[in-house]
Amino acid sequence: MLPPPLRTPPTPDRRKSSQKSKLDFANPCDCGYPSRIWTSTTKDNPGKEFRVCPNSTDNPEIKCKFWEWVNEEDTVNKKKRDEVRAQSCEVRAQSCEVRIAIMDHDFNIYKKKTDEEFDKIIRKISSLKTYVIVLFMLFVVSLLRA
Ligand SMILES: [Zn+2]
Repeated sequence: MLPPPLRTPPTPDRRKSSQKSKLDFANPCDCGYPSRIWTSTTKDNPGKEFRVCPNSTDNPEIKCKFWEWVNEEDTVNKKKRDEVRAQSCEVRAQSCEVRIAIMDHDFNIYKKKTDEEFDKIIRKISSLKTYVIVLFMLFVVSLLRA
């Protein structure tokens, strides 16, 4: 539904709606403040919500001219957008998990290989040690014989 051509916001009934007005951080006014949502109490649009500059009612001098009906379609679209965003977040989180799982898997393979290499080296060193000891003993024996 198109907003009415006139640019004067419906007057909020402060006695009734002051409790109900809420700040809308997602839709700031032209001053950059979160807009305030009031419920219309006019004959033409009873109960219809509209957004205005949060200064509209308290400080008439510094308010901006921002006001618009709260469009139900906007709200629905925003909800849809949020859902899509949440879904893509979930997909991203899942692909992260998959990547982590792959990395973990690769790391385990790498670790296994490294451990095996390390074991081989240790075995080589100990066999070398034995070889050196045998050589040394042979050397000592040959000295004694001489
Ligand atoms: Zn404003």
